[in-house]
Amino acid sequence: LVSRKKKPEDTVIDIKGEKIGDGNRHFIMGPCAVESYEQVSTVAEAVKKQGLKLLRGGAFKPRTSPYDFQGLGIEGLQILKQAADEHDLAVISEIVNPADIEQAVDYLDVIQIGARNMQNFELLKEAGSVNKPVLLKRGMSATISEFINAAEYIISRGNGNIILCERGIRTYEKATRNTLDISSVPILKQETHLPVMVDVTHSTGRRDLLLPAAKAALAIGADGVMAEVHPDPAVALSDSAQQMDIPTFESFMDELKKF
Ligand code: PEP
Ligand code: MN
Repeated sequence: LVSRKKKPEDTVIDIKGEKIGDGNRHFIMGPCAVESYEQVSTVAEAVKKQGLKLLRGGAFKPRTSPYDFQGLGIEGLQILKQAADEHDLAVISEIVNPADIEQAVDYLDVIQIGARNMQNFELLKEAGSVNKPVLLKRGMSATISEFINAAEYIISRGNGNIILCERGIRTYEKATRNTLDISSVPILKQETHLPVMVDVTHSTGRRDLLLPAAKAALAIGADGVMAEVHPDPAVALSDSAQQMDIPTFESFMDELKKF
């Protein structure tokens, strides 16, 4: 059902008036994790000031180590929604447990399914059963074909509002956190009718590569870019090495507007 052969025209996903897949560029910005109201509110204000609409923030964090910050859970979603409502933004956040979807949809405009859960088929089926757009990230060891099949799990349950997100794959290369598979973008656009975005933060893991990676994503035809922004990355509870502070975010957006 996600195949372009089945449906030649692009799928456009309307998130509070932001139409992903309409040929314009879209940006999903916000902290890695929701840490406090003040933190999210500061980022929301900066996102709004840039004329952007989509605010991200993790409340259920799928951390590699069980001893790392796991997120604020439902309370995190409430904080995110409050800050978004105050700035007229739409909210996107990751859900890791199928049982949380029913409650979480009250707070979310987009359900994110993270790389580590791309083949959590029960989660995919549950996300396919609700009337809420889904941003599906590519698994770090998933082929493009497996990625497309994961999207097929969601659409086959009735929910075709899916945004695919390339976020880098694991290779032998150590210079970046993951290897941004930039060619997956035109392949996914050719093979499916779904919008495709690129997460430059988790693919590169390097603040100095966020801008060139975002330019590459837009140049190769991505519908938009996701990146992480934190008021004070040095004290962030997750991904402190790669989040942008507010002035860096502002110059990042200024450069992309010129590009
Ligand atoms: C995230 O976007 O918060 C995240 C954890 O990314 P990924 O699932 O791509 O690692
Ligand atoms: Mn992160």
